[in-house]
Amino acid sequence: MAKKKGETIVTVYPAWCKGCGICVNFCPGKVLEFDEHGKAYVARMEECIGCGFCELHCPDFAISVVAKDKKDNKNNSEHKDEGKN
Ligand code: SF4
Ligand code: SF4
Repeated sequence: MAKKKGETIVTVYPAWCKGCGICVNFCPGKVLEFDEHGKAYVARMEECIGCGFCELHCPDFAISVVAKDKKDNKNNSEHKDEGKN
């Protein structure tokens, strides 16, 4: 899993979030906040260090943390052999 800022994409599924606050309170990057409905949302994606805490500790499995390059590879073929060879 990526460990540098800005290398991950965090998604909160509001339908599953019960607003317990674990992710909001313990995210080391303060990435997550509550919206007006008391559900967590991604407020500062660029601060995410990809630690995976939120995904691991959300009791309702309402968060997913994915490395950006994994997502990119699905529909972006522009990345060639960067830095290799
Ligand atoms: S992966 Fe870590 S830094 Fe990123 S939003 Fe979750 S708890 Fe915060
Ligand atoms: S840990 Fe899960 S249920 Fe709790 S506030 Fe965060 S997303 Fe919602």
